[in-house]
Amino acid sequence: ADQYPYLKRDQSFKKLTDGDLDYFKSVVGLSGVSQDEEDLEVFNIDWMQKYRGQSKLVLKPSTTEQVSKILKYCNDNKLAVVPQGGNTGLVGGGVPVFDEIIISTANMSSVRSFDPVSGALVCDAGCILEVLDNYLAEQGYIMPLDLGAKGSCHIGGNVATNAGGLRLLRYGSLHGTVLGLEVVMPDGTILDNLSTLRKDNTGYDLKQLFIGSEGTLGIITGVSILAPKRSKAVNVALLGVSSFDQVQAAFKRSKDELSEILSAFEFFDRASIDLVKQHLVAGKNDPLESPHPFYVLIETSGSNKDHDDEKLNSYLEGLLTDDIVQDGVVAQDTTQFKNLWAIREGIPEACSKTGSVYKYDLSIPVPVFYQMVEDMRARLEKEGVLGEDKNVRSVVGFGHIGDGNLHLNIAAKSYSDEVANIIEPYVFEWTAKHAGSISSEHGLGLFKAPHVHYSKSPSMLALMRRIKDMLDPNGIMNPYKYLPTE
Ligand code: FAD
Repeated sequence: ADQYPYLKRDQSFKKLTDGDLDYFKSVVGLSGVSQDEEDLEVFNIDWMQKYRGQSKLVLKPSTTEQVSKILKYCNDNKLAVVPQGGNTGLVGGGVPVFDEIIISTANMSSVRSFDPVSGALVCDAGCILEVLDNYLAEQGYIMPLDLGAKGSCHIGGNVATNAGGLRLLRYGSLHGTVLGLEVVMPDGTILDNLSTLRKDNTGYDLKQLFIGSEGTLGIITGVSILAPKRSKAVNVALLGVSSFDQVQAAFKRSKDELSEILSAFEFFDRASIDLVKQHLVAGKNDPLESPHPFYVLIETSGSNKDHDDEKLNSYLEGLLTDDIVQDGVVAQDTTQFKNLWAIREGIPEACSKTGSVYKYDLSIPVPVFYQMVEDMRARLEKEGVLGEDKNVRSVVGFGHIGDGNLHLNIAAKSYSDEVANIIEPYVFEWTAKHAGSISSEHGLGLFKAPHVHYSKSPSMLALMRRIKDMLDPNGIMNPYKYLPTE
């Protein structure tokens, strides 16, 4: 409890009793209940090891009906719960704050159906993203989203956080690709909306409320999602660039010249690659001959390799001739393809290896995108906390340029109030001043609940609160998170 001095456990929530445990065991069986302290550890601590709860119970239902019975019981008895998928979230949303019961989707991992004509996939919420992608690969399809945490995160967690990731530029957000959801409401009602239709204008589009609701309104138990065809020809190129202006110029030109085959446009700075080289095997050697201040990773996906190669080569030649990029490499085989992506995808992990990482996931207008990183570096230096022998070791910028999404990571030896107070609320004020969003794709969780007013007006916050109160009148769903505590 001392970890969050600004928060108090809501004493109206009941504490777990032996009678409650007996009931849960009767619903999910002994194998669906974890009480062992060591087993609980991984569920109580988040991926960054920044947030730690004290739950005494993890429930792992294997059917929607079991989830329904659990939630109804918890709602009737005012037991607070936290839904958890792969526990890869980056804002402290998936772990308990105090003694909330963890409801894990780990045992709900079956594909329910796949239509090879439309590409509609219907599956349990606990399916791991990478497992789904491999399943679809066999059918010639691909998941419309991809992220560095794909080996652990669950599709239900992805939907609950409205995860963006590496393919959003091409396939759009989950608000467009999710066709339907099955959700268990706090009172146990099963909202059956597992539609596979692309078009359905028969009333309010209720599923949208749950996409990005971070476990505060109900538990997603099933997902229907539209999978695109897997492209036959995929290319990846890594470019070395000398200024951020040139990164923007390369992006602008990619939209003109690569247009329909462009499937990712990612960027990272030198500090990012230095951390990857320092901490991860994948990045041991510099991918380009000499170091550059900025790197751009471009992926193209199309149906005709010759056509795509020709387009990409002509685009790259133009960039070199016009001195927009200084160097570049195109992956020649699957290994190189994976290695180039591994550098980009390895950045979050490399940052966390320094010890502790302050993570900010911001939507910022692209022209001032990198100024945020430079301003933050200058601020931390001026305050005397950034340097080789200081707490903060590195300030890195990377992200999805194509989506205007900057990941600002501040890698430190350990978390400290001194550093946190230098960064916040400055980072949020800066973002609000530039009409950005303080959470581009990671969500609000525990971390950003008190700061949401930087991106949402009082009237919008009031409506969000009314929706929460209406759907979860007892407030048992993922308390203390998402909305500012009153
Ligand atoms: P969890 O962490 O378990 O939970 C996240 C939130 O969703 C919590 O609030 C939880 O209560 C809720 N929740 C989980 N399951 C359910 C459910 N079934 N019903 C209702 N609520 C539920 N995110 C991006 O958007 N883009 C990226 O590129 C990206 N890259 C990442 C790279 C790494 C290395 C890591 C560690 C994370 C990255 N993330 C990224 C963060 C991202 O939000 C999560 O990885 C993912 O979407 C969360 O899924 P999860 O199953 O792990 O959910």
